[in-house]
Amino acid sequence: MPWCETCGQGLDKDQVQEDGTCPFCGEEATEHRAMPLRFKLMIWATVIYLGYRAFQGIAWVVHHA
Ligand SMILES: [Zn+2]
Repeated sequence: MPWCETCGQGLDKDQVQEDGTCPFCGEEATEHRAMPLRFKLMIWATVIYLGYRAFQGIAWVVHHA
């Protein structure tokens, strides 16, 4: 199924323009096979953030021990 990253929604095959773009925003529509890059980045950001907070927590405990 074609997918528009910008609109965050799936498109019907006949909705996609002849040049492969989304009819609503004009951005390129992609096949919704792979996990969206934005989702991967969000997971990485969460992992890095939680790692940073864990580091802060450990540093706090060490400092106040
Ligand atoms: Zn769109």
